Amino acid sequence: MLSNNDQQALLAWYDEHQRDLPWRQTNDPWAILLSEILLQQTQVSRGLIYWQRMVETFPTVGSMAAAPVDAVLKAWEGAGYYSRARRLHALSQRVMMPKAEGGFDGQLPSTYDELLSLPGIGPYTAAAVASIAFRHPVACVDGNIRRVMARQTAQADPTPKQVQEWADGSLETERPGDWNQSLMELGATVCTPKRWACGTCPLRASCAGTGDPGAYPTPKKQRVTALHLVAVVEFALDGHPVLHQRPMSGMFAGLWGPMYREDAMPKDEGLVDCGTVNHQLSHKKIKVQVYVSGSSQAPKGIRRSDVALSTLDEKVLNLAAEHVFEGDDSAATKAKG
Ligand code: SF4
Repeated sequence: MLSNNDQQALLAWYDEHQRDLPWRQTNDPWAILLSEILLQQTQVSRGLIYWQRMVETFPTVGSMAAAPVDAVLKAWEGAGYYSRARRLHALSQRVMMPKAEGGFDGQLPSTYDELLSLPGIGPYTAAAVASIAFRHPVACVDGNIRRVMARQTAQADPTPKQVQEWADGSLETERPGDWNQSLMELGATVCTPKRWACGTCPLRASCAGTGDPGAYPTPKKQRVTALHLVAVVEFALDGHPVLHQRPMSGMFAGLWGPMYREDAMPKDEGLVDCGTVNHQLSHKKIKVQVYVSGSSQAPKGIRRSDVALSTLDEKVLNLAAEHVFEGDDSAATKAKG
């Protein structure tokens, strides 16, 4: 566990060195919750852009609850892990429900247990929001804190229970939100996975791992799977692509895009082979063979800016449009719009 001296040293370091991030300048629990959900799987530099967009589009929990889920997906477009956006929408609707029906009368709840009961909120987010937005003394555990704990205690593979116990025992209870953020900030900027600045670290006096920080924790091997898909893109007679909304579960659920198939290349003479698109998700390498159907009779397609598309679908449609509208700049612009 960290001592009182460690706590004061880390908080003093945080007060001086914390990054200037807009969600640290607000007391609005909704804005803080949006930042925590976004930052779960999005880098801070990109999270800044999407947080700004989400706060402007849905300034209150009620404004999101009143919007269709498609509007939330559209605002989330490009941020990835779209299940977060769908769950966020479900969360907003649950918060707006009357208490008698299991909701929270329009007020975001403040306790760890109540927050944990909301859709899309796990132990990390519940602790982060309860401590940062409501100053409740609960300790967060995320990957950064696990790494700092492993190095502080020189443990190669601490269990989740051990990390939580260390975080609980180290918690500074006067400023719990700042405390949790200071530990995460240290892991994100000083005690990083491949680099560590032990010489300037506020916790160096008590750290058992300074001799060989890279040994703690043992790096986990990430399993990356490969997925090959075939996309058949169709452009309607008005120049816009024919798009379909995906089911609400599975990859890119609820987003729009061309039809994908997992089977072999279609043997259809009317198809034009446009080449391949490669796309990397965190644990998946996706390769899409893109074809354009030359026989579309659909009168109207869908304007791309009107619906939410994944980054992969954007790439696929761009490649298809380049082949179909080569040399015709006005049509290509339409197909891309
Ligand atoms: S002293 Fe080094 S290894 Fe220990 S917490 Fe600080 S940066 Fe990490």
